[in-house]
Amino acid sequence: MWTDEVQKLKKERNAVILAHNYQIPEIQDIADFTGDSLALSRIAADTDADVIVFCGVHFMAESAKILSPDKTVLIPDEAAGCSLADSITAEQLREWKAEHPGAVVVSYVNTTADVKALTDVCCTSSNAVDVVNSIDPDAEILFCPDQFLGAHVKRQTGRENIRIWAGECHVHAGINGKELAGQAAAHPDAPLYIHPECGCANSAIYLASEGVIAPERVHMLSTGGMLDQADRDTEGTVLVATEVGMLHQLQKKSPLADFQPVNPQASCKYMKMITPEKLVASLRDMRDEVTVPEETAAKARQSLERMIAIGNPGSGE
Ligand code: SF4
Repeated sequence: MWTDEVQKLKKERNAVILAHNYQIPEIQDIADFTGDSLALSRIAADTDADVIVFCGVHFMAESAKILSPDKTVLIPDEAAGCSLADSITAEQLREWKAEHPGAVVVSYVNTTADVKALTDVCCTSSNAVDVVNSIDPDAEILFCPDQFLGAHVKRQTGRENIRIWAGECHVHAGINGKELAGQAAAHPDAPLYIHPECGCANSAIYLASEGVIAPERVHMLSTGGMLDQADRDTEGTVLVATEVGMLHQLQKKSPLADFQPVNPQASCKYMKMITPEKLVASLRDMRDEVTVPEETAAKARQSLERMIAIGNPGSGE
């Protein structure tokens, strides 16, 4: 059994296995910890493991390395990228900053280590509003890379001096308002869990404000927030707008409720590149190792630590 092989190799390597919420169920079930990228990276930093195996996408393994510079960090397939993190490169951010000298850069944690190193303060989807509110109201803000999260923050803070990068995650952007409205009408009593990265986030607010969907049904939540909310929604149908891998943890948390995806096709091909075979090979052959140059890591760590100091370092993706 591949699971026995993983357990044996894990002991030999003194490794901790992390699985992001969007991984396939088999990987989630064998992991020591399942969750969002920042929480997992912080948990792994507190362990005495020598090796971290991050079953997720590349920027997540980089975050683990930034917070655990002395541990070896592996990802079972280094080609597992992220369309959102790829929406802005360090070069593009450098140019954007040069066009707006003095602006404060706020980056969502779904960014590369190089982009984090050029960032003043990171944010997650659950603390993005608090992070922006903590910044001098007169300072211009450059928010990247997710345009839907940026629009959510702008709406919540009422702030005008915030420029938003036009990046997006192809999976979340693909969960649109039409699908949301259709599913909400088909399940009129179901609560709606909506990740603010989704293309339907603006529609949900609009539909709620127009009275098409009862506002109390709409919950804008990070992945960690969804798991907390699942403790309260213990029965009936719940509609979930995020990547479909999330349904596995939600269903485990609240087994009598029926969690349904707003868009069943919302599956991240990068997350699904991590397979049991690759996990075994990663532990056996110690690959693929993820490294971050120390100077970059030190600057990126500062932008994460500034966020943590603001409080509520809850989950992003
Ligand atoms: S679901 Fe989107 S944001 Fe998440 S890893 Fe995949 S491409 Fe990136």
